[in-house]
Order: sequence, then C-alpha cells, then structure tokens
Amino acid sequence: MTAPLIDPFARAITYLRVSVTDRCDFRCVYCMSENMTFLPKKELLTLEELDRMCSTFIGLGVEKLRITGGEPLVRKGIMTFFQAMTRHLESGALRELTLTTNGSQLEKFADDLYAAGVRRVNISLDTLDEAKFADITRWGRLPQVLRGIDAAQRAGLRVKINAVALKGFNEDELPAITRWCAERDMDLTWIEVMPMGDIGNENRLGQYWSLDDVREAYAKDYTVTDLAERTGGPARYVRLEETGQKIGFITPLTHNFCESCNRVRLTCTGELFMCLGQEDNADLRAPLRENPDTEAPLRDAIRAAISRKPKGHDFDYSRQRTDGQMSRHMSHTGG
Ligand code: SAM
Ligand code: SF4
Repeated sequence: MTAPLIDPFARAITYLRVSVTDRCDFRCVYCMSENMTFLPKKELLTLEELDRMCSTFIGLGVEKLRITGGEPLVRKGIMTFFQAMTRHLESGALRELTLTTNGSQLEKFADDLYAAGVRRVNISLDTLDEAKFADITRWGRLPQVLRGIDAAQRAGLRVKINAVALKGFNEDELPAITRWCAERDMDLTWIEVMPMGDIGNENRLGQYWSLDDVREAYAKDYTVTDLAERTGGPARYVRLEETGQKIGFITPLTHNFCESCNRVRLTCTGELFMCLGQEDNADLRAPLRENPDTEAPLRDAIRAAISRKPKGHDFDYSRQRTDGQMSRHMSHTGG
C-alpha cells in the first residue's frame, strides 16, 4: 500500500484538476487576450505522459479527476486519454472522471465521453443572448454550445452550468438563466471573476460582481436557504425553496475556504500548482520524462510538492486593486 497524499495541514489530497491544453476555440474576454501566444507543442505533456501522470496520482490516492484547459475537447486525440482513464474507474481506484468545457465540441463527443465513464460535465455559459455570447467569448457561437448541451443531456451526462458573474453584463439575466437551468434540470454555479493573466484591455475591476450581491439578488425573488454541502473547493451552495434548485457560488475573493482544500492543479506542461492563488509550483514533467521506465522519481516529486502546499491564498479586491494578481492564465492552470 502506498501512503496517501497528506499536506502539512492534514488535508488529504484526493482531487486532481488537469489542464490538457492551453489552446481554445473561444477567446473569452476575462480569460484570454484576442491574440494569445500558445505554447509550442513539445512543451505539452503528450497523451501518454498525461496518462502516466494521472495514473501515478491515482496510485497515490487521487479519487477524482477533472479534465480542463484551455478547451480540453480541442486537444487532438483527447478521447483516447479519456478512454484510457476508464480502466481506473473500472478498478474502483478512481471514483469520478469529469471535465469542464465550453461545450463547443460536445455535439461530437458527448456519447464517447459517456462511454468512457464520464457521468457529469461542467459547461461554461455566461449568457443566453446570442449577441452577448459572441461578445464575451469573441469567437464562440451560442447555437453550437446549446446543441452541445442538448447532446450531453441526451447522452445521459448530468450537466452543471458555470456562469462567471459580470457586473453590467449578465446581471439582468440572472432570473432567465436560473429559470432556464431549472427547466432543463441543470445545476447552476456562479463564479466570481478572478485576477488571472494578462487579458488585454478589459478592465477586470469593472467586471467584478460580488457573489454576496448575487445572493442578495436571489433573495429578492426567492427564499434562499444555505446548504451544508461541501466539496472541498471554494464553492458554497444554497437552495431556492420555490423551485428546489441548488445554486452554487464560487467565491475565492470574498471568502476563503482554504481550510478544507483537497485539490491540486496540473498544468498542460506538467507543473503542479498546489494552490490556485499562489505562484509556487513544482515541475513534474522533468522527473516523468527523464524516467520513462519508473514512476518512483515522479512519486517522490509529487510528495515533495504536496509537502509545500500552502495554507491558503491572497486574492483580495477589497482595496480596489488586484492584490494577489496571478501572472498565469486560467487556461494554463485550468479553471
Ligand atoms: N474552456 C473550458 C471552459 O470554458 O469551461 C475550461 C477551461 S476555463 C479556464 C474553466 C472555467 O474558468 C470557465 O468556467 C471559465 O468561465 C472560468 N474562468 C476563466 N477565466 C476566469 C477568470 N479570470 N475568473 C473566473 N473564472 C474564470
Ligand atoms: Fe476558452 Fe474556457 Fe478560457 Fe473561454 S474560459 S477562453 S472557453 S479556456
């Protein structure tokens, strides 16, 4: 038996989020600049390396794997990787294989994802207005994403919608988005915009809409009950009593929930970030590439990294400047 991954604050690390590409077919204004420079292909972990990496983490007690990006479904051959992870679901070592996607490729891949053992997907969607969708994603088209959502539900995947809360952008759509999710039996989570990477001219502070205010907005129309449910991440949930809907709030800025953090993030180049809000990271690609025949050095590097996992992070908008600003993009670390 290998000892599980326990960090210095006695938190068991059982959840790995993996960014499989920094590329994307959208250019969401809060995430990327229009003319992003992407990494050279040789920097990226190959699909085989991703398999070795994830399998090693699973061998160390990771039970939940979330695939993200960039847009994970634009990575060439990614379905081979999902299919390879099925063996860990079948053995019982992995409890959940899931992904976060912009939905653009789901029409094509939903059935294959289900066949590989994926049962839930998070789909990012900030607006139901076609023109606004084109504005916020720059390159995305709403009908394609809606067809992707239909395909996911038809395939039997449970869908959660993730919407970034943006002041002056989707504030007025809160009731419509909420109703639409209820009608389609989809969960809904609002995300506070975070200070990640250089995204061009957009003014992040202007976009920031506190989720405390979003909660207030719900309280005008609904009876809002706090739920005790915890996932080990920065999400908190409420129930809208009138519809029975569960609404999530991801609030890394206004509230820190680091004490129960159970996760680490692997970038598409094999750097392990022990905290989304800190720059410290460990290079896992070198011990992986330099040792094609044994995972022992990789396991040691993972343990050494986990022993440095910090207690929490320092995002703070309260003084109207982006303290704790991260230089990397969300698409690199994976959202
Ligand atoms: N491309 C996929 C997608 O959009 O779902 C997966 C990667 S994306 C980086 C993951 C999540 O991060 C999305 O829900 C996106 O809205 C969110 N995101 C991106 N940049 C963000 C930022 N600056 N603040 C908060 N959330 C952000
Ligand atoms: Fe692409 Fe997702 Fe970033 Fe939008 S949020 S640009 S879809 S990676």
